[in-house]
Amino acid sequence: GLIQSIRESWQHLVTLESVIVLLALFGAYYLANSITRPIRRLVHQAKDVAGGHYDKTVVITESNELGQLANEFNLMQQAVLEREKAITHRALHDPLTEMPNRNFLIQQAESGLVTPDSALSLFHIDIQRTKAINDTLGYELGNSLIREVGERLRSLPDLKSCVHLGADEFVLLVAGNDDESIEGWHKRIAELMDTPLDCSRIQLHIQLTMGVSRSPDDANNIHQLLQYADTALSHAKAARKQIQSYQAEMDADLADRLSLVNELKTAIVTNQLQLFYQPKLDLKSDKIHQLEALVRWQHPERGMIPPDAFISIAEQTGLIDSLTHWVVDEAASQYQRWSEKGLDLTIAVNISAENLKNANFPQELKGVWQRYNLPDHAISLEVTESAVVSDPESAVAMLCEIRDTGIKLSIDDYGTGYSSLSYLKKFPIDRLKIDRSFVIEIEKNEEDRAIVRAIIDLAHTLNISVIAEGVESEAQAYLLHVMGCNEIQGYFVSRPIIAAQVESFVKVDARKLQGINERDKALR
Ligand code: C2E
Ligand code: CA
Ligand code: CA
Repeated sequence: GLIQSIRESWQHLVTLESVIVLLALFGAYYLANSITRPIRRLVHQAKDVAGGHYDKTVVITESNELGQLANEFNLMQQAVLEREKAITHRALHDPLTEMPNRNFLIQQAESGLVTPDSALSLFHIDIQRTKAINDTLGYELGNSLIREVGERLRSLPDLKSCVHLGADEFVLLVAGNDDESIEGWHKRIAELMDTPLDCSRIQLHIQLTMGVSRSPDDANNIHQLLQYADTALSHAKAARKQIQSYQAEMDADLADRLSLVNELKTAIVTNQLQLFYQPKLDLKSDKIHQLEALVRWQHPERGMIPPDAFISIAEQTGLIDSLTHWVVDEAASQYQRWSEKGLDLTIAVNISAENLKNANFPQELKGVWQRYNLPDHAISLEVTESAVVSDPESAVAMLCEIRDTGIKLSIDDYGTGYSSLSYLKKFPIDRLKIDRSFVIEIEKNEEDRAIVRAIIDLAHTLNISVIAEGVESEAQAYLLHVMGCNEIQGYFVSRPIIAAQVESFVKVDARKLQGINERDKALR
Protein backbone atom coordinates (compact mmCIF):
# COMPACT_ATOMS: atom_id res chain seq x y z
CA GLY A 1 0.00 0.00 0.00
CA LEU A 2 1.23 3.36 1.00
CA ILE A 3 4.49 2.23 2.48
CA GLN A 4 5.28 0.34 -0.71
CA SER A 5 4.62 3.40 -2.88
CA ILE A 6 6.69 5.66 -0.58
CA ARG A 7 9.61 3.23 -0.71
CA GLU A 8 9.41 3.09 -4.53
CA SER A 9 9.36 6.83 -5.00
CA TRP A 10 12.23 7.14 -2.52
CA GLN A 11 14.19 4.62 -4.55
CA HIS A 12 13.45 6.61 -7.71
CA LEU A 13 14.63 9.70 -5.98
CA VAL A 14 17.86 8.02 -4.90
CA THR A 15 18.49 6.69 -8.41
CA LEU A 16 17.74 10.07 -9.93
CA GLU A 17 20.07 11.80 -7.48
CA SER A 18 22.81 9.27 -8.12
CA VAL A 19 22.49 9.88 -11.84
CA ILE A 20 22.60 13.64 -11.26
CA VAL A 21 25.67 13.34 -9.01
CA LEU A 22 27.38 11.11 -11.54
CA LEU A 23 26.58 13.50 -14.36
CA ALA A 24 27.86 16.38 -12.27
CA LEU A 25 31.06 14.50 -11.53
CA PHE A 26 31.58 13.70 -15.20
CA GLY A 27 30.91 17.28 -16.12
CA ALA A 28 33.39 18.60 -13.56
CA TYR A 29 35.99 16.11 -14.65
CA TYR A 30 35.57 17.05 -18.30
CA LEU A 31 35.75 20.74 -17.54
CA ALA A 32 38.80 20.37 -15.33
CA ASN A 33 40.58 18.22 -17.86
CA SER A 34 39.98 20.56 -20.78
CA ILE A 35 41.59 23.33 -18.74
CA THR A 36 44.46 21.41 -17.18
CA ARG A 37 45.46 19.30 -20.15
CA PRO A 38 46.74 22.27 -22.24
CA ILE A 39 48.29 23.78 -19.13
CA ARG A 40 50.02 20.50 -18.41
CA ARG A 41 51.30 20.52 -21.98
CA LEU A 42 52.62 24.07 -21.57
CA VAL A 43 54.36 23.17 -18.31
CA HIS A 44 55.90 20.13 -19.93
CA GLN A 45 57.10 22.24 -22.84
CA ALA A 46 58.56 24.89 -20.53
CA LYS A 47 60.58 22.13 -18.87
CA ASP A 48 61.80 20.93 -22.26
CA VAL A 49 62.88 24.44 -23.27
CA ALA A 50 64.67 24.93 -19.96
CA GLY A 51 66.47 21.65 -20.64
CA GLY A 52 67.64 22.95 -24.01
CA HIS A 53 65.22 21.06 -26.30
CA TYR A 54 63.82 23.56 -28.71
CA ASP A 55 62.55 21.31 -31.44
CA LYS A 56 58.98 20.77 -30.21
CA THR A 57 56.21 23.34 -30.23
CA VAL A 58 52.93 23.28 -28.35
CA VAL A 59 49.87 22.59 -30.45
CA ILE A 60 46.66 23.75 -28.82
CA THR A 61 43.70 24.06 -31.10
CA GLU A 62 41.41 26.04 -28.80
CA SER A 63 40.97 29.61 -29.89
CA ASN A 64 40.35 30.84 -26.35
CA GLU A 65 42.86 32.44 -23.97
CA LEU A 66 44.69 29.13 -23.64
CA GLY A 67 45.24 28.96 -27.37
CA GLN A 68 46.65 32.48 -27.34
CA LEU A 69 48.89 31.66 -24.42
CA ALA A 70 50.26 28.68 -26.32
CA ASN A 71 50.89 30.89 -29.31
CA GLU A 72 52.81 33.44 -27.25
CA PHE A 73 54.74 30.60 -25.74
CA ASN A 74 55.81 29.28 -29.12
CA LEU A 75 56.93 32.75 -30.21
CA MET A 76 58.96 33.18 -27.05
CA GLN A 77 60.54 29.79 -27.56
CA GLN A 78 61.55 30.81 -31.08
CA ALA A 79 63.15 34.00 -29.79
CA VAL A 80 65.05 32.16 -27.08
CA LEU A 81 66.20 29.65 -29.65
CA GLU A 82 67.51 32.36 -31.97
CA ARG A 83 69.23 34.19 -29.18
CA GLU A 84 70.90 31.04 -27.97
CA LYS A 85 72.03 30.19 -31.49
CA ALA A 86 73.57 33.67 -31.79
CA ILE A 87 75.33 33.35 -28.45
CA THR A 88 76.73 29.95 -29.32
CA HIS A 89 77.86 31.26 -32.69
CA ARG A 90 79.57 34.21 -31.11
CA ALA A 91 81.32 32.03 -28.54
CA LEU A 92 82.72 29.84 -31.28
CA HIS A 93 83.45 32.34 -34.06
CA ASP A 94 85.51 35.44 -34.60
CA PRO A 95 83.40 38.55 -35.18
CA LEU A 96 85.72 39.99 -37.85
CA THR A 97 86.08 36.98 -40.11
CA GLU A 98 83.16 34.84 -38.92
CA MET A 99 85.67 32.00 -38.88
CA PRO A 100 85.70 29.41 -36.07
CA ASN A 101 87.84 30.54 -33.11
CA ARG A 102 90.03 29.03 -30.40
CA ASN A 103 87.05 27.64 -28.42
CA PHE A 104 85.84 25.91 -31.52
CA LEU A 105 89.25 24.35 -32.09
CA ILE A 106 89.44 23.14 -28.50
CA GLN A 107 85.96 21.58 -28.72
CA GLN A 108 86.83 19.99 -32.01
CA ALA A 109 90.16 18.64 -30.72
CA GLU A 110 88.71 17.32 -27.51
CA SER A 111 85.91 15.55 -29.28
CA GLY A 112 88.34 13.32 -31.09
CA LEU A 113 90.28 15.33 -33.65
CA VAL A 114 93.48 15.07 -31.64
CA THR A 115 94.06 11.59 -30.30
CA PRO A 116 97.17 10.35 -28.46
CA ASP A 117 98.65 8.93 -31.64
CA SER A 118 97.34 11.13 -34.44
CA ALA A 119 100.11 12.44 -36.71
CA LEU A 120 99.30 16.15 -36.95
CA SER A 121 101.00 19.51 -37.15
CA LEU A 122 99.64 22.71 -35.70
CA PHE A 123 100.61 25.94 -37.45
CA HIS A 124 100.27 29.14 -35.44
CA ILE A 125 100.27 31.88 -38.07
CA ASP A 126 100.80 35.57 -37.45
CA ILE A 127 100.48 38.37 -40.01
CA GLN A 128 103.49 40.64 -39.84
CA ARG A 129 103.11 44.25 -38.84
CA THR A 130 99.34 44.52 -38.88
CA LYS A 131 99.64 47.25 -36.29
CA ALA A 132 101.77 49.45 -38.51
CA ILE A 133 99.38 48.88 -41.40
CA ASN A 134 96.43 49.86 -39.19
CA ASP A 135 98.22 52.98 -38.09
CA THR A 136 99.58 54.26 -41.32
CA LEU A 137 97.10 52.94 -43.85
CA GLY A 138 93.97 52.73 -41.71
CA TYR A 139 92.00 50.11 -39.77
CA GLU A 140 89.78 49.32 -42.72
CA LEU A 141 92.80 48.17 -44.68
CA GLY A 142 94.14 46.23 -41.70
CA ASN A 143 90.80 44.46 -41.35
CA SER A 144 90.64 43.65 -45.06
CA LEU A 145 94.11 42.19 -44.80
CA ILE A 146 93.10 39.94 -41.90
CA ARG A 147 89.90 38.85 -43.68
CA GLU A 148 91.79 38.13 -46.86
CA VAL A 149 94.40 36.01 -45.08
CA GLY A 150 91.57 34.10 -43.38
CA GLU A 151 89.85 33.51 -46.73
CA ARG A 152 93.01 32.28 -48.36
CA LEU A 153 93.97 29.97 -45.50
CA ARG A 154 90.49 28.54 -45.45
CA SER A 155 90.72 27.73 -49.13
CA LEU A 156 93.57 25.25 -48.58
CA PRO A 157 92.40 21.70 -49.30
CA ASP A 158 92.63 18.90 -46.72
CA LEU A 159 92.77 21.02 -43.59
CA LYS A 160 91.76 19.29 -40.37
CA SER A 161 90.91 22.63 -38.93
CA CYS A 162 91.35 26.30 -39.70
CA VAL A 163 90.55 28.85 -37.01
CA HIS A 164 91.00 32.54 -36.36
CA LEU A 165 92.56 32.88 -32.92
CA GLY A 166 91.79 36.59 -32.79
CA ALA A 167 93.56 39.79 -33.84
CA ASP A 168 95.86 38.84 -36.71
CA GLU A 169 96.53 35.24 -35.70
CA PHE A 170 95.31 31.99 -37.20
CA VAL A 171 95.78 28.29 -36.50
CA LEU A 172 95.82 25.46 -39.00
CA LEU A 173 95.69 21.84 -37.98
CA VAL A 174 96.94 19.54 -40.73
CA ALA A 175 97.75 15.88 -41.24
CA GLY A 176 101.39 14.77 -41.17
CA ASN A 177 104.13 15.65 -38.73
CA ASP A 178 107.43 14.96 -40.51
CA ASP A 179 109.75 17.71 -41.74
CA GLU A 180 108.82 17.06 -45.33
CA SER A 181 105.11 17.50 -44.90
CA ILE A 182 105.61 20.58 -42.72
CA GLU A 183 107.82 22.09 -45.41
CA GLY A 184 105.15 21.17 -47.97
CA TRP A 185 102.45 23.00 -46.01
CA HIS A 186 104.74 25.96 -45.49
CA LYS A 187 105.30 26.17 -49.23
CA ARG A 188 101.62 25.93 -50.01
CA ILE A 189 100.74 28.61 -47.48
CA ALA A 190 103.49 30.92 -48.76
CA GLU A 191 102.37 30.43 -52.38
CA LEU A 192 98.83 31.23 -51.35
CA MET A 193 100.00 34.61 -50.04
CA ASP A 194 102.16 35.40 -53.07
CA THR A 195 99.60 37.55 -54.85
CA PRO A 196 99.45 40.94 -53.18
CA LEU A 197 96.10 42.15 -51.96
CA ASP A 198 94.73 44.87 -54.23
CA CYS A 199 93.30 47.72 -52.23
CA SER A 200 92.05 50.95 -53.70
CA ARG A 201 95.19 52.93 -53.10
CA ILE A 202 97.85 50.33 -52.70
CA GLN A 203 98.99 46.76 -53.16
CA LEU A 204 99.42 45.02 -49.82
CA HIS A 205 102.11 42.34 -49.67
CA ILE A 206 101.16 39.64 -47.22
CA GLN A 207 103.96 38.47 -44.96
CA LEU A 208 103.42 35.73 -42.40
CA THR A 209 105.38 34.29 -39.50
CA MET A 210 104.65 30.72 -38.41
CA GLY A 211 105.34 28.58 -35.36
CA VAL A 212 104.74 24.84 -35.66
CA SER A 213 104.16 22.09 -33.08
CA ARG A 214 103.74 18.40 -33.83
CA SER A 215 101.51 15.70 -32.46
CA PRO A 216 102.28 13.28 -30.95
CA ASP A 217 106.04 14.13 -30.91
CA ASP A 218 105.75 17.43 -29.03
CA ALA A 219 102.41 16.86 -27.31
CA ASN A 220 99.16 15.04 -27.82
CA ASN A 221 96.67 17.47 -26.39
CA ILE A 222 95.47 20.67 -27.98
CA HIS A 223 96.42 22.98 -25.11
CA GLN A 224 100.09 21.96 -25.16
CA LEU A 225 100.18 21.98 -28.93
CA LEU A 226 98.87 25.55 -28.96
CA GLN A 227 101.36 26.62 -26.32
CA TYR A 228 104.35 25.02 -28.06
CA ALA A 229 103.41 26.49 -31.44
CA ASP A 230 103.19 29.87 -29.73
CA THR A 231 106.66 29.40 -28.22
CA ALA A 232 107.98 28.47 -31.67
CA LEU A 233 106.28 31.54 -33.15
CA SER A 234 108.01 33.83 -30.63
CA HIS A 235 111.33 32.26 -31.58
CA ALA A 236 110.58 32.76 -35.27
CA LYS A 237 109.80 36.43 -34.62
CA ALA A 238 112.89 37.00 -32.50
CA ALA A 239 115.10 35.38 -35.14
CA ARG A 240 113.12 37.15 -37.87
CA LYS A 241 112.48 33.83 -39.59
CA GLN A 242 109.36 32.93 -41.55
CA ILE A 243 108.83 29.58 -39.89
CA GLN A 244 110.12 27.77 -36.82
CA SER A 245 109.21 24.33 -35.48
CA TYR A 246 109.00 23.83 -31.74
CA GLN A 247 112.05 22.25 -30.14
CA ALA A 248 112.29 20.94 -26.61
CA GLU A 249 115.50 22.96 -26.27
CA MET A 250 113.41 26.11 -26.43
CA ASP A 251 112.35 25.34 -22.90
CA ALA A 252 115.64 23.65 -21.97
CA ASP A 253 117.29 26.75 -23.40
CA LEU A 254 115.58 28.73 -20.73
CA ALA A 255 117.04 26.58 -17.95
CA ASP A 256 120.46 26.93 -19.55
CA ARG A 257 120.07 30.66 -19.85
CA LEU A 258 119.01 30.89 -16.24
CA SER A 259 122.28 29.28 -15.19
CA LEU A 260 123.90 32.26 -16.85
CA VAL A 261 122.34 34.60 -14.29
CA ASN A 262 124.93 33.99 -11.61
CA GLU A 263 127.75 34.20 -14.09
CA LEU A 264 126.35 37.46 -15.44
CA LYS A 265 126.57 39.01 -11.97
CA THR A 266 130.30 38.29 -11.93
CA ALA A 267 130.68 39.33 -15.55
CA ILE A 268 129.44 42.84 -14.80
CA VAL A 269 131.90 43.43 -11.95
CA THR A 270 134.89 41.68 -13.56
CA ASN A 271 134.68 43.53 -16.87
CA GLN A 272 133.78 40.59 -19.07
CA LEU A 273 131.38 42.91 -20.86
CA GLN A 274 132.52 44.88 -23.85
CA LEU A 275 130.93 47.57 -25.99
CA PHE A 276 130.89 47.45 -29.77
CA TYR A 277 129.94 50.59 -31.67
CA GLN A 278 127.86 50.82 -34.82
CA PRO A 279 128.14 54.10 -36.76
CA LYS A 280 125.08 56.10 -37.79
CA LEU A 281 125.51 57.93 -41.07
CA ASP A 282 124.04 61.40 -41.44
CA LEU A 283 122.51 61.48 -44.92
CA LYS A 284 122.86 65.23 -45.32
CA SER A 285 126.54 65.60 -44.44
CA ASP A 286 127.62 62.04 -45.33
CA LYS A 287 129.39 61.96 -41.95
CA ILE A 288 129.32 60.00 -38.72
CA HIS A 289 128.27 62.03 -35.69
CA GLN A 290 126.92 59.27 -33.53
CA LEU A 291 127.40 55.57 -32.83
CA GLU A 292 125.18 53.07 -31.09
CA ALA A 293 126.79 51.14 -28.22
CA LEU A 294 125.97 47.42 -28.40
CA VAL A 295 127.01 45.25 -25.51
CA ARG A 296 128.79 41.89 -25.87
CA TRP A 297 129.80 39.38 -23.23
CA GLN A 298 133.26 37.84 -23.56
CA HIS A 299 132.56 34.70 -21.55
CA PRO A 300 135.76 32.96 -20.38
CA GLU A 301 134.51 29.50 -21.52
CA ARG A 302 131.59 30.09 -23.85
CA GLY A 303 133.24 32.79 -25.92
CA MET A 304 131.35 35.80 -27.18
CA ILE A 305 127.69 35.87 -26.14
CA PRO A 306 125.37 38.21 -28.09
CA PRO A 307 123.06 40.53 -26.12
CA ASP A 308 119.89 38.73 -27.21
CA ALA A 309 121.06 35.77 -25.11
CA PHE A 310 121.40 37.65 -21.83
CA ILE A 311 119.57 40.99 -21.87
CA SER A 312 116.18 39.43 -21.23
CA ILE A 313 117.65 37.39 -18.35
CA ALA A 314 119.12 40.54 -16.89
CA GLU A 315 115.71 42.17 -17.19
CA GLN A 316 113.91 39.32 -15.51
CA THR A 317 116.34 39.02 -12.63
CA GLY A 318 116.87 42.64 -11.69
CA LEU A 319 120.42 42.67 -13.06
CA ILE A 320 119.50 45.13 -15.78
CA ASP A 321 120.02 48.14 -13.52
CA SER A 322 123.65 47.33 -12.90
CA LEU A 323 124.14 46.26 -16.53
CA THR A 324 122.75 49.54 -17.87
CA HIS A 325 124.81 51.38 -15.31
CA TRP A 326 127.95 49.63 -16.55
CA VAL A 327 127.10 50.41 -20.19
CA VAL A 328 126.39 54.10 -19.55
CA ASP A 329 129.59 54.42 -17.51
CA GLU A 330 131.69 52.71 -20.17
CA ALA A 331 130.12 54.85 -22.94
CA ALA A 332 130.85 57.99 -20.91
CA SER A 333 134.50 57.15 -20.53
CA GLN A 334 134.72 56.26 -24.23
CA TYR A 335 133.17 59.59 -25.17
CA GLN A 336 135.80 61.27 -23.05
CA ARG A 337 138.65 59.33 -24.69
CA TRP A 338 137.42 60.24 -28.18
CA SER A 339 136.87 63.79 -27.20
CA GLU A 340 140.45 64.02 -25.90
CA LYS A 341 141.56 62.89 -29.35
CA GLY A 342 139.55 65.66 -30.94
CA LEU A 343 136.71 63.43 -32.11
CA ASP A 344 133.20 64.65 -31.34
CA LEU A 345 131.39 61.34 -31.48
CA THR A 346 128.26 60.96 -29.42
CA ILE A 347 127.02 57.59 -28.25
CA ALA A 348 123.53 56.11 -28.11
CA VAL A 349 122.90 53.58 -25.36
CA ASN A 350 120.04 51.08 -25.26
CA ILE A 351 117.96 51.06 -22.12
CA SER A 352 115.25 48.63 -21.03
CA ALA A 353 111.68 49.01 -19.89
CA GLU A 354 112.89 47.82 -16.48
CA ASN A 355 115.23 50.79 -16.17
CA LEU A 356 112.23 53.08 -16.45
CA LYS A 357 110.71 51.43 -13.38
CA ASN A 358 113.67 52.38 -11.21
CA ALA A 359 112.79 55.73 -9.63
CA ASN A 360 116.50 56.53 -9.08
CA PHE A 361 117.39 56.12 -12.75
CA PRO A 362 117.43 59.84 -13.70
CA GLN A 363 119.51 60.58 -10.60
CA GLU A 364 122.00 57.83 -11.47
CA LEU A 365 122.33 59.23 -14.99
CA LYS A 366 123.00 62.70 -13.64
CA GLY A 367 125.72 61.19 -11.45
CA VAL A 368 127.52 59.81 -14.53
CA TRP A 369 127.30 63.17 -16.35
CA GLN A 370 128.82 64.89 -13.33
CA ARG A 371 131.54 62.32 -12.77
CA TYR A 372 132.79 62.59 -16.36
CA ASN A 373 131.84 66.22 -16.78
CA LEU A 374 129.91 65.39 -19.97
CA PRO A 375 128.04 67.84 -22.18
CA ASP A 376 124.31 67.04 -22.44
CA HIS A 377 124.50 65.60 -25.93
CA ALA A 378 127.41 63.22 -25.20
CA ILE A 379 125.18 60.22 -24.62
CA SER A 380 121.60 59.69 -25.72
CA LEU A 381 119.25 56.88 -24.82
CA GLU A 382 117.35 54.46 -27.08
CA VAL A 383 114.21 52.99 -25.63
CA THR A 384 111.89 50.60 -27.45
CA GLU A 385 108.33 51.55 -28.13
CA SER A 386 107.10 48.48 -26.24
CA ALA A 387 108.96 49.62 -23.12
CA VAL A 388 106.76 52.66 -22.98
CA VAL A 389 103.53 50.93 -23.88
CA SER A 390 103.49 48.53 -20.92
CA ASP A 391 102.87 51.39 -18.49
CA PRO A 392 102.63 54.53 -20.61
CA GLU A 393 101.91 57.08 -17.92
CA SER A 394 104.73 56.32 -15.54
CA ALA A 395 107.15 55.58 -18.39
CA VAL A 396 106.36 58.87 -20.11
CA ALA A 397 106.73 60.70 -16.78
CA MET A 398 110.14 59.12 -16.27
CA LEU A 399 111.22 59.95 -19.82
CA CYS A 400 110.17 63.57 -19.29
CA GLU A 401 112.23 63.71 -16.12
CA ILE A 402 115.28 62.35 -17.99
CA ARG A 403 114.82 64.70 -20.90
CA ASP A 404 114.51 67.65 -18.53
CA THR A 405 118.08 66.97 -17.45
CA GLY A 406 119.07 67.65 -21.10
CA ILE A 407 119.60 64.04 -22.21
CA LYS A 408 118.29 63.21 -25.70
CA LEU A 409 115.94 60.28 -26.25
CA SER A 410 115.03 58.09 -29.20
CA ILE A 411 112.36 55.49 -29.79
CA ASP A 412 113.90 52.22 -31.02
CA ASP A 413 112.46 49.49 -33.28
CA TYR A 414 109.66 51.84 -34.26
CA GLY A 415 106.73 50.20 -36.02
CA THR A 416 106.99 46.78 -34.41
CA GLY A 417 105.31 47.64 -31.13
CA TYR A 418 101.71 48.21 -30.42
CA SER A 419 101.56 51.91 -29.86
CA SER A 420 99.67 53.88 -32.44
CA LEU A 421 101.38 56.50 -34.52
CA SER A 422 99.46 59.22 -32.69
CA TYR A 423 101.27 58.19 -29.51
CA LEU A 424 104.36 59.86 -30.91
CA LYS A 425 103.02 63.22 -29.83
CA LYS A 426 103.05 62.07 -26.23
CA PHE A 427 106.62 60.78 -26.23
CA PRO A 428 109.22 63.36 -25.27
CA ILE A 429 111.63 62.19 -27.96
CA ASP A 430 114.14 63.74 -30.32
CA ARG A 431 114.71 60.86 -32.67
CA LEU A 432 112.83 57.89 -34.00
CA LYS A 433 114.42 54.72 -35.30
CA ILE A 434 112.45 52.82 -37.94
CA ASP A 435 112.68 49.09 -37.34
CA ARG A 436 114.80 47.13 -39.76
CA SER A 437 111.89 44.90 -40.80
CA PHE A 438 110.56 47.85 -42.83
CA VAL A 439 113.89 48.35 -44.52
CA ILE A 440 114.56 44.78 -45.66
CA GLU A 441 112.08 44.82 -48.54
CA ILE A 442 111.79 48.55 -49.05
CA GLU A 443 112.75 48.23 -52.71
CA LYS A 444 110.17 45.72 -53.82
CA ASN A 445 107.48 46.23 -51.22
CA GLU A 446 105.22 49.16 -51.94
CA GLU A 447 103.41 49.06 -48.63
CA ASP A 448 106.66 49.10 -46.65
CA ARG A 449 107.62 52.21 -48.55
CA ALA A 450 104.24 53.78 -47.80
CA ILE A 451 104.63 53.03 -44.10
CA VAL A 452 108.18 54.38 -43.96
CA ARG A 453 107.14 57.52 -45.82
CA ALA A 454 104.20 58.09 -43.46
CA ILE A 455 106.41 57.63 -40.39
CA ILE A 456 109.06 60.03 -41.72
CA ASP A 457 106.51 62.69 -42.63
CA LEU A 458 104.70 62.53 -39.32
CA ALA A 459 107.95 62.56 -37.34
CA HIS A 460 109.14 65.60 -39.24
CA THR A 461 105.93 67.52 -38.56
CA LEU A 462 106.52 66.77 -34.89
CA ASN A 463 110.12 67.94 -35.18
CA ILE A 464 111.46 64.47 -34.59
CA SER A 465 114.50 63.31 -36.54
CA VAL A 466 114.33 59.90 -38.25
CA ILE A 467 116.93 57.14 -38.56
CA ALA A 468 116.46 53.82 -40.35
CA GLU A 469 118.24 50.71 -39.05
CA GLY A 470 119.28 47.54 -40.82
CA VAL A 471 120.27 49.30 -44.04
CA GLU A 472 122.35 46.76 -45.94
CA SER A 473 122.50 48.06 -49.50
CA GLU A 474 123.09 51.26 -51.39
CA ALA A 475 119.71 50.92 -53.06
CA GLN A 476 117.99 50.95 -49.65
CA ALA A 477 120.09 53.92 -48.55
CA TYR A 478 119.14 55.77 -51.71
CA LEU A 479 115.39 55.26 -51.24
CA LEU A 480 115.59 56.42 -47.63
CA HIS A 481 117.61 59.42 -48.70
CA VAL A 482 114.93 60.32 -51.24
CA MET A 483 112.20 59.98 -48.64
CA GLY A 484 113.95 62.50 -46.44
CA CYS A 485 115.23 60.12 -43.77
CA ASN A 486 117.88 61.91 -41.68
CA GLU A 487 120.26 59.08 -40.84
CA ILE A 488 120.89 55.44 -41.64
CA GLN A 489 122.51 52.61 -39.71
CA GLY A 490 123.33 49.10 -40.83
CA TYR A 491 125.85 46.84 -42.52
CA PHE A 492 125.86 49.13 -45.59
CA VAL A 493 127.56 51.74 -43.43
CA SER A 494 129.37 49.40 -41.06
CA ARG A 495 128.91 46.39 -38.80
CA PRO A 496 129.31 47.06 -35.09
CA ILE A 497 133.06 47.54 -34.46
CA ILE A 498 135.33 48.04 -31.46
CA ALA A 499 136.34 51.51 -30.30
CA ALA A 500 139.83 51.28 -31.79
CA GLN A 501 138.37 50.59 -35.25
CA VAL A 502 135.97 53.49 -34.96
CA GLU A 503 138.77 56.03 -35.07
CA SER A 504 140.09 54.91 -38.44
CA PHE A 505 136.60 54.31 -39.74
CA VAL A 506 135.40 57.87 -39.24
CA LYS A 507 138.56 59.24 -40.81
CA VAL A 508 138.86 57.00 -43.82
CA ASP A 509 135.84 54.90 -44.66
CA ALA A 510 132.91 56.97 -43.58
CA ARG A 511 131.97 58.45 -46.96
CA LYS A 512 129.24 56.19 -48.15
CA LEU A 513 127.07 58.41 -50.25
CA GLN A 514 129.34 59.30 -53.14
CA GLY A 515 127.51 56.91 -55.44
CA ILE A 516 124.19 58.25 -54.29
CA ASN A 517 125.18 61.86 -54.70
CA GLU A 518 126.46 61.20 -58.21
CA ARG A 519 123.23 59.49 -59.09
CA ASP A 520 121.38 62.53 -57.73
CA LYS A 521 123.50 64.88 -59.82
CA ALA A 522 122.91 62.83 -62.94
CA LEU A 523 119.19 63.08 -62.34
CA ARG A 524 119.28 66.84 -62.02
P1 C2E B 1 118.91 46.90 -31.50
O1 C2E B 1 118.91 48.04 -30.53
O2 C2E B 1 117.82 46.91 -32.54
O3 C2E B 1 120.34 46.87 -32.14
C1 C2E B 1 120.58 46.63 -33.48
C2 C2E B 1 120.92 45.20 -33.72
O4 C2E B 1 120.87 44.97 -35.13
C3 C2E B 1 122.33 44.83 -33.31
O5 C2E B 1 122.35 43.48 -32.89
C4 C2E B 1 123.12 44.98 -34.60
O6 C2E B 1 124.27 44.21 -34.65
C5 C2E B 1 122.11 44.50 -35.61
N1 C2E B 1 122.35 45.10 -36.92
C6 C2E B 1 122.93 46.28 -37.19
N2 C2E B 1 122.94 46.54 -38.50
C7 C2E B 1 122.34 45.50 -39.10
C8 C2E B 1 122.05 45.19 -40.47
O7 C2E B 1 122.34 45.94 -41.40
N3 C2E B 1 121.38 44.03 -40.71
C9 C2E B 1 121.05 43.19 -39.71
N4 C2E B 1 120.42 42.04 -40.02
N5 C2E B 1 121.30 43.44 -38.39
C10 C2E B 1 121.95 44.59 -38.10
P2 C2E B 1 122.94 43.11 -31.48
O8 C2E B 1 124.19 43.86 -31.23
O9 C2E B 1 122.97 41.62 -31.44
O10 C2E B 1 121.87 43.65 -30.48
C11 C2E B 1 120.64 43.04 -30.36
C12 C2E B 1 119.75 43.78 -29.41
O11 C2E B 1 120.23 43.68 -28.08
C13 C2E B 1 119.69 45.27 -29.68
O12 C2E B 1 118.82 45.52 -30.71
C14 C2E B 1 119.24 45.81 -28.35
O13 C2E B 1 117.84 45.73 -28.24
C15 C2E B 1 119.85 44.85 -27.36
N6 C2E B 1 121.03 45.47 -26.75
C16 C2E B 1 122.27 45.57 -27.24
N7 C2E B 1 123.08 46.21 -26.36
C17 C2E B 1 122.31 46.56 -25.31
C18 C2E B 1 122.55 47.25 -24.06
O14 C2E B 1 123.63 47.73 -23.78
N8 C2E B 1 121.50 47.40 -23.21
C19 C2E B 1 120.27 46.93 -23.51
N9 C2E B 1 119.28 47.11 -22.65
N10 C2E B 1 120.01 46.27 -24.65
C20 C2E B 1 121.01 46.08 -25.55
CA1 CA C 1 118.94 50.15 -30.40
CA1 CA D 1 116.57 48.53 -33.20
